[in-house]
Amino acid sequence: MTLFPSLVEGVLSESIIGRAQNAGVIEVRCHNIRDFSTDRHRKTDDTPYGGGVGMVMTCQPIYDCYRSVLSSLPEGSRKRVIYMSPKGRIFSHGVARELSEYDDLIFLCGHYEGVDQRVIDEIVDEEISIGDYVVTGGEIPACIVIDAVSRLLEGTLASSECYEGESIASGILEYPQYTKPREFMGREVPEVLISGDHARIDRWRLERAVEITRERRPELLQANPQILASLEPKKKRRK
Ligand code: SAM
Repeated sequence: MTLFPSLVEGVLSESIIGRAQNAGVIEVRCHNIRDFSTDRHRKTDDTPYGGGVGMVMTCQPIYDCYRSVLSSLPEGSRKRVIYMSPKGRIFSHGVARELSEYDDLIFLCGHYEGVDQRVIDEIVDEEISIGDYVVTGGEIPACIVIDAVSRLLEGTLASSECYEGESIASGILEYPQYTKPREFMGREVPEVLISGDHARIDRWRLERAVEITRERRPELLQANPQILASLEPKKKRRK
C-alpha cells in the first residue's frame, strides 16, 4: 500500500526478483492508496494536530485500501501487516526468515511525516525498520524486505546453498570472491583458488571468512563459537 506504486514496481521487476515474479514464486501487487481517497481532490494527507512541520497521511484512504487488499486474499491465508517505520524492529536475516513463513505480507509505506497513529493501531501487526536512519518513504524499505524474504523462498535462487553460505546467514561474513581474469592491475587471484585442491580451498575460505569477521564483526564469532572450533586441528584419537 503506497502513494508511489511505480517506485516499488520498478525496483522489483528487474533481475532475480523480477524472474521470481515471472516464475510465480512470488507475486507483488502494488495498491495506490490515493485510489481509495474519498476526498474530492483525492487528498491523502493533512496537517498534524498539535502543529508542527510536514503532512501526515490520513486514516481513511489507507484503511479502505487495506480492506480492499484483505478482500483479495485467499481464505485462510496466513498474513502479516507491516508498517515500514524507523520506529520499528530492526530488520535482519532472522526477521526475513520469520516473514518467509507467511503466505501474504501486506506492507504499508509511509511518506512525509508518517501515518496517523490510529490507522496503524487499527491494522498493523508490526513495525519494521531497515536501520537507524530516516529515508523519505517506506517504498525502498519495503523493497528491501521483499527482496530479502523472496531470496529465502524455494525457486528464487538456484538452491538454498546460494544463501546458506553467505554473509550473516552462515553466522559469519563471507570470504572474498574472485573471478576471471587471473590478474587485474597487477593483483593476482590467490594461488590456492586455482589449485584444484578443494579441501585446501574450503580451508582457505573458512580462514578468510573468520579473519574478515574478526576484523569487522567480532560479535558474530562470539555468537557462533563452533565456527572457530572447526578451524582447530582435530585431536588424534587415543588407541
Ligand atoms: N516522522 C517520522 C519519524 O520521525 O519517525 C519519519 C517519517 S519518514 C520521513 C517517512 C516514511 O518513510 C515513514 O513513514 C516510513 O514509512 C519510511 N521510513 C523512513 N525511514 C525508515 C526506516 N529506517 N525504516 C523503514 N521505513 C522508514
